[in-house]
Amino acid sequence: MATVTLSKPEVKQTECFIDGKWLPAASGKTFQTINPATEEVIAEVAEGDAEDIDLAVKSARSAFESGPWKNMDARDRGRLLYKLADRIEQDLDELAALESLDNGKPISDAKAADLPLVVDCLRYYAGYADKIHGQTVPIRGNYFCYTRKEPVGVVGQIIPWNFPMLMTAWKWGPALAAGCTIVMKPAEQTPLTCLRMAQLAKEVGFPDGVINVVPGYGPTAGGSIVKHRGIDKVAFTGEHLTAQIIMKEAADSLKRLTFELGGKSPNIVFADSDIDLAAEKAHFGLYFNQGQCCCAGSRVFVEESIREEFVEKVAKLNEHRKLGDPLDPQTDQGPQVDQNQFDKIMKYIDIGQQEGANMVTGGKRHGDKGYFVEPTLFDQVTDDMKIATDEIFGPVMSVLSFDNYQDLVERANNTFYGLAAAVWTRDIAKAHNLANELRAGTVWVNCYDVFDAAAPFGGFKMSGMGRELGEEGLKPYVETKTVTVSLG
Ligand code: ADP
Repeated sequence: MATVTLSKPEVKQTECFIDGKWLPAASGKTFQTINPATEEVIAEVAEGDAEDIDLAVKSARSAFESGPWKNMDARDRGRLLYKLADRIEQDLDELAALESLDNGKPISDAKAADLPLVVDCLRYYAGYADKIHGQTVPIRGNYFCYTRKEPVGVVGQIIPWNFPMLMTAWKWGPALAAGCTIVMKPAEQTPLTCLRMAQLAKEVGFPDGVINVVPGYGPTAGGSIVKHRGIDKVAFTGEHLTAQIIMKEAADSLKRLTFELGGKSPNIVFADSDIDLAAEKAHFGLYFNQGQCCCAGSRVFVEESIREEFVEKVAKLNEHRKLGDPLDPQTDQGPQVDQNQFDKIMKYIDIGQQEGANMVTGGKRHGDKGYFVEPTLFDQVTDDMKIATDEIFGPVMSVLSFDNYQDLVERANNTFYGLAAAVWTRDIAKAHNLANELRAGTVWVNCYDVFDAAAPFGGFKMSGMGRELGEEGLKPYVETKTVTVSLG
């Protein structure tokens, strides 16, 4: 078989981006970002901490309170967002390769999913910039009362490593459309594309200080964002345990908070569904992005009469899944993002076997280099098993059986998470009834992982607070001001 030589993308930005300049960390420290497919160091990146965050906040505050950003017409803010979207689209191949290198996701996924969604999200919010307006209010008396929608101020944005560019776009889009300024910390595992996006934003003309990016670790750089008095709001995506720390630490300054957190999403397959399609999409809904999705369909409830047939179909798809170099366009599945995630997933695979679930496929490391985990499928999983209750964040599917609708609803909702759910049936009334009863922020019917910049996304219960995307995603970046003018 011919070997394909795949060209590696060039790493251009590795420092802190503060006030429109590239700066080393004040401490001079750096950390390594690792290629998860080879375990080799890709680059040394500036390790920002409190001092760098403070500098970034001062820059963001000054850009918010004076200068070209404050005085820019809303429509021109929108034009800058359109330009950034165009520039990203122009550099799509290069950015997809960089994302794939740093995160380990297959380049075909980065090109077909992540990047187009990034461009779409920025364009969606670009169109909103000049459509954020208040109302006139008919209060009692001889007054003219109206509301203004003003930007919330300087926002701190902390993102995870599973969709680095997309999470950047979900955060920047609404914040910039609303007129806020930004201090962002990308995840320590995957800082490269966010830094590249900052450079592109500079090149298309975003004024200095509007976007600042400080790479670094969670408790230090992230913690400094959360505690800083000069930040008005924090938007965070990551684990609920981190969100709990953030909520406590943000209490002192009563920051506005939005959270998009984890899940253990039920994917429910009825006997009257299109079983081939349900199996194909259940496979996609769990193994996509190496299972590293907050909304992964990780609890697959299958009606008992079709369970064996369904499991066979998913097993066949798993066996055909091609694991390998993420930069190879033929690859379906890359490595997990790092050693920690790899170890955690392997531990859960052991636990599943000890708990007595039936492991139908996978279970092992793939190859001897890189953090690859075989697509793993457990059948005959019961509700109390840890593989059915804990978020594994890896390529591990648990199939649970059901035969009673009412029990099913209770079991599907019996989790402290509530991010997403899916239902597979040809019975439209059953689909809608279940969509109403499931306690989740998103319910997909006869589809999975359908995302659109216009459709709000976020969690019930401990899966989040507030929504991203759509008109709802804009609201946390806006304050309402009431102005009352005496006409007497
Ligand atoms: P994951 O398990 O997906 O890495 P985390 O919640 O640990 O999820 O991380 C998501 C983001 O939150 C990362 O950018 C990380 O550096 C940051 N982070 C982790 N701990 C803290 C913290 N104590 N304060 C602020 N940010 C944090």
